[in-house]
Amino acid sequence: MLRNNFKKVVTCTSTLVLFSFHSDNTVTAPVNSPITGNTASRYANHHGIHHHRSGQPYTIYLTFDDGPSSGSRMVNELSQRDSVQINVFLIGRNADLTEKNRALFKNYQDNPLVELGNHSYTHAQRHYEKYFGDPAVVLADFNRNRDSLRLDNNFARLPGRNFFRIDTLSRNDISTGAKAADTLAAEGYKLFGWDLEWRRRPARGFALHTGKEMLEIVEKMLDTKKTFIPGNIIILFHDTELLDEQFMGELEDFIQRAKADGKYSFEHLSAYPN
Ligand SMILES: [Zn+2]
Repeated sequence: MLRNNFKKVVTCTSTLVLFSFHSDNTVTAPVNSPITGNTASRYANHHGIHHHRSGQPYTIYLTFDDGPSSGSRMVNELSQRDSVQINVFLIGRNADLTEKNRALFKNYQDNPLVELGNHSYTHAQRHYEKYFGDPAVVLADFNRNRDSLRLDNNFARLPGRNFFRIDTLSRNDISTGAKAADTLAAEGYKLFGWDLEWRRRPARGFALHTGKEMLEIVEKMLDTKKTFIPGNIIILFHDTELLDEQFMGELEDFIQRAKADGKYSFEHLSAYPN
């Protein structure tokens, strides 16, 4: 039963989102591998922007893609149990799929700790090259999603692409889609990529990252200004992965450790500097 539901839900392909990218288009290590080198964009060093909110020097943004789906219940629970701000990027077709998904979407709408964003209506039906070859199709798909979910902000994340378009700041990953991203930005969308992805199942050959290890990685990236905007780190998750209790436990441990440390705050993307 559960498995059937999973099959029907539109999801990201995992390989595309496992990597961080240099601005010079070289692929770096999977983020689920130990961070030993330079894993993030050099753009970070160009901006010189530092964000000091509520006294803490570093801000963490937890973002969840591809809902609503069976894992969205856990995302809601996480936000409430740990009183932590969360952003979700939603697929309208998933919301329209089942009554259950529609109810999960409603729970997101009703949760003040969750901020909604647009992840396209169809998620490119997983045919990314074809989709991004036609910027008009991409724009229509994002507009359809905005109208379908009645989203009242302009926050968006491309399916299968780690691109930023925030006012004058922009970054592309190695994939096609720059024109589509520019088209969306020209229409007023704010595109959020991510600095780091944390997956339940790490790349082959690497052990699951614990919350403690992830906080060390986050600290190192922030200390060495390896994020898109220094002082700020956007972490990508997927709703369905929170159905894994062990993973959920490590994420909660990460949140508690970060809060106890004193130099981190958790914010919605509406607080992201621009
Ligand atoms: Zn996705």
